[in-house]
Amino acid sequence: MYCKSCGVKIEVDEMFCKNCGNKTDYQDKDNLGIFNINRKKSFVGCVINFDVYVDETKVGTLKNGGNINCNIPLGEHEVKISNPTGNVITQNIILTKDKRTVKINVKVKMGLLAGKANIIDLNYE
Ligand SMILES: [Zn+2]
Repeated sequence: MYCKSCGVKIEVDEMFCKNCGNKTDYQDKDNLGIFNINRKKSFVGCVINFDVYVDETKVGTLKNGGNINCNIPLGEHEVKISNPTGNVITQNIILTKDKRTVKINVKVKMGLLAGKANIIDLNYE
């Protein structure tokens, strides 16, 4: 996410822009949604960790059987899930006042693309 005032990158949950001091969308509770991503526990690929980004800001590392839960502003966002070998998948999400929560379930995809994240479902609530 980027500052609406100066365009500098805003880290997740930052209340003020570090560059210009402007209030961010994280101060406005009416404008916040919930981003939730779960990884199914599996023996296969269990040592591979996925880094998860929302709009190029890292929100956490998804380990085998792990979960990341954080606030993000409503609107359209790009989710990126990458592993250490550079396998990346992206997914666009849209949060609205009626659908404030997005839940994504992923697992490790096997075969030629072993170690790549695979979104098995994506739901809004
Ligand atoms: Zn700023």
